[in-house]
Amino acid sequence: MATTWFKLQFPQILGSATPFLLYTAVIVFSTVYSGWIIGILMVALSLLPIIYYFLPPENSFVLQPQHYIQIFFYIIQDGIVIAMSYALQKARKKNALVENRFKVLTEKAADLLVLRDVNNKAFYVSPKVETVYGYSPEEYADMAIEKMVSPDYLQYFLQNLKEIKEVPNSHRIVRIQAYRKDGEIRWMEGDVYNFLEQPGINAIVSYIKDITDRVNLERQKDDFIGIASHELKTPLANIKGFVSLAEKSAQDKPENIKSFLGKAQHNIIRLQRIVNDLLDISKINTGQLPYSLEVFNFSELLQDTVKSLRMHQKKHEFILSAPEKVMMNGDRYRLEQVLINLLENAVKYSPEADKVLVSAELSNNYLIVSIRDFGIGISEEHVSKIFNRFYRVDNTSTKYQGLGLGLFIASEILKKHNGSFWLDSKLGEGSTFSFLLPYELEAKTNTYTDNQTYFRTDYIDIAYNKEQNWLEADWIGYQTKQTVQEGCMHMLDLVKSTRVEKVLNNNSKVKGNWSEASDWGSTFWFPLMQEAGIEYFAWIQSPDIFSQLSALKSIEMKNGKINIHFFEEMSAAVEWLEGVKSEAEISQSKMIRDDGSQ
Ligand code: ATP
Ligand code: MG
Repeated sequence: MATTWFKLQFPQILGSATPFLLYTAVIVFSTVYSGWIIGILMVALSLLPIIYYFLPPENSFVLQPQHYIQIFFYIIQDGIVIAMSYALQKARKKNALVENRFKVLTEKAADLLVLRDVNNKAFYVSPKVETVYGYSPEEYADMAIEKMVSPDYLQYFLQNLKEIKEVPNSHRIVRIQAYRKDGEIRWMEGDVYNFLEQPGINAIVSYIKDITDRVNLERQKDDFIGIASHELKTPLANIKGFVSLAEKSAQDKPENIKSFLGKAQHNIIRLQRIVNDLLDISKINTGQLPYSLEVFNFSELLQDTVKSLRMHQKKHEFILSAPEKVMMNGDRYRLEQVLINLLENAVKYSPEADKVLVSAELSNNYLIVSIRDFGIGISEEHVSKIFNRFYRVDNTSTKYQGLGLGLFIASEILKKHNGSFWLDSKLGEGSTFSFLLPYELEAKTNTYTDNQTYFRTDYIDIAYNKEQNWLEADWIGYQTKQTVQEGCMHMLDLVKSTRVEKVLNNNSKVKGNWSEASDWGSTFWFPLMQEAGIEYFAWIQSPDIFSQLSALKSIEMKNGKINIHFFEEMSAAVEWLEGVKSEAEISQSKMIRDDGSQ
């Protein structure tokens, strides 16, 4: 009864125009939030209650002719409303998109963005601050400038801010030293703008980046120019001296001429080598170091190089052991350059010793060359860096001549020959520099696989351990960038086919180095492994320091979620993998628990 009364009272209470307005509001909302199709649908739906409740005869769907006009206008009016609401919705979406785009751009930009008010108080700090300074945006905003900027640069920094504030829209580049949260002092460069009077910004805007690496490189370059000039000057002065001595000897002691000219020539060769190294470096930088490949006997090259060095290095004896013939397809001149660099270093950095051991041996499809000296050695902290351009070990750099280019050039040449290089060294006891080259370019390897659960070849053995539900990869012998990349991709395939979440990666039988593949590992392969579902990666390390460094480098994966642990012993790695639970295992055990409790 009550409902009938309510129905009948509708038109009297609301009047007949109100429902049209009411429904129009509903249509506006539905269009703005759900789009124009829903809007039109709502118009159609709203007509039903309007006709039924409000248009006489009430409580029936019967229409009188004059209502057609009313309904027609209602539809037109709501059509316009839908169009307007739709335009509004689109504009809002676009705005949100633009806003979001700017937010992402400022947050993800390489530079840290800081907005300060006229009192130097930071009121916006982009999240990049965590990587640049180690602080959270809130912590950074609350920090006093005096605590952040190094005392040596504080005055300069504040003075610059003051001067920028004096001129609206002015811009300056400010370079200071500042403290990170961890206390480390870093070089920071800020592009600072005075937008205090710019409507909508009203701030001192700074784009800040950490330029420590750049500053160090600039310094290194400056030092390098100094060293290079010195290195060029010494042989030049010697040549000048020996030539004038020869000239003078022509009158009284002609028998000395040959010896002076010989010494002059020795310096000319040195000069030539320095100039060639400098030219090579600039070519390497532009990727234009030319290579001309030919098939030649590497053993012969090794013997010839040792022989020619022996002529100048009287003190050191070179003890050579090499197979008689190793045919190789490579650039003879460039590989000679590698040998000269390594042999000269062995002599130069072992002034107290009298011998250098040189060996070449064949293993699988590789030629492995090692040059061992009994000299000053290299401490662990320098091992990973000495193949870098311009790098020289500090405390020896003043004592021994050199530009710090030899090993860098050698490593570039070896990379181009698909080879790799590594070293073993103990401070005070000597060093062994080794490199590896594939000597049969089209080497045939035996491969066994079912494409599902195992893959076996000369350098890797990957197998699915069904009982433990993980994948076991065993790397064997010498590795190059190519073998590492291929092996890794096979591992990825098997991870996909077996759907495991754990890997037991054994490097204990690895020889040689594979540092060239480590960047690839961190930026390319580990993310793919993560995508394929890997959660735990137990890594049994190679005993070799150089390989350990490469391994560390290859896990520098940004935002990586794979849990990687290094082990010295297989048993410890297995124990760890058995102990950790993958997400699937956790949810499975939860399901079992839930089932049990039911
Ligand atoms: P150059 O450009 O003339 O070769 P360099 O010998 O200083 O100059 P590299 O051959 O690149 O440059 O070597 C880089 C650094 O590595 C050396 O400065 C030295 O400190 C260290 N080093 C290289 N070989 C040996 C070695 N056999 N024993 C000890 N230290 C070495
Ligand atoms: Mg050298």
